[in-house]
Parts: sequence; C-alpha cells; structure tokens
Amino acid sequence: MPSGTRYRVPEDVLGALERVFGQSDLDRIEVIYRPLYVRSHLICIGGRCGSVTRPRRIYTNIDESVFFTLDLHVLHEYYHVVQQWGRERMTRSGYLLASGRREREACDFAALNLERYRRYRRELRDRLGHGRAGPVFRT
Ligand SMILES: [Zn+2]
Repeated sequence: MPSGTRYRVPEDVLGALERVFGQSDLDRIEVIYRPLYVRSHLICIGGRCGSVTRPRRIYTNIDESVFFTLDLHVLHEYYHVVQQWGRERMTRSGYLLASGRREREACDFAALNLERYRRYRRELRDRLGHGRAGPVFRT
C-alpha cells in the first residue's frame, strides 16, 4: 500500500463514532497510511505500531484491513482529533506540554465508551444488512 493512501472508513464505524461523539461531520476526518512518518514519531515514545493525530487527520502505520477492527485504538485516536484538536483547539505545543494528561484523557474516553461504540456498530451492521463481526466496506 503506497504511503499517502486514504482509508475508507466503514459505514458502521463512521456511524458509531458520530453517535458516540454526537457530531455528524466525522467523515471530514481523514485516516491516512503514512508508515515512515508515524514510525519516526512513535520511536520517540517507544512504540512501533500505531497512529499520530493532527487536526482532522489520523496518520497510521496500521494496515487498513486491521485499523478499523481495533475499536479501542479507533476511539482513542478519534478522541484526539474530535475533542482535543477540534473542540479544544489543541496546538502541537499544547499537546507536548501536557502529553501525559492528553493521552490519559484519550485512554479514559476510549475505555468508557467502548461498549457503547461496539453496540452502535452492531446495530448499524444489522440495519445495513450485515450480520458478520468484521468491518463493513463499501465496494
Ligand atoms: Zn494517544
């Protein structure tokens, strides 16, 4: 997969995220495969696999087929984008100065909303006519 590839967010993921965050324009957030960029950032914090966020962007080195199955990770990264970069207008220096707290907030939010998010995804998959457990892709 070439760097810069933009992922298609499955409908059940997008719908569930919009319900969890109470906001209906989350399709404006782009999830983009940028493995070298992500890796160079994650090395600073001792990680190898994961994602880096910016306003309205999630850069990741996780394959598209796996990314949207990682419910906690998806909630965590969208929290950074929707709440922190978006509603709180976080800046890069603002993140760096309080990265521990910012990360804890994202972890707490993801853990608190995980069951609700999974329930919404199930409901949406049922409504869309897909009963299976995996992500739904539009082809
Ligand atoms: Zn984080």
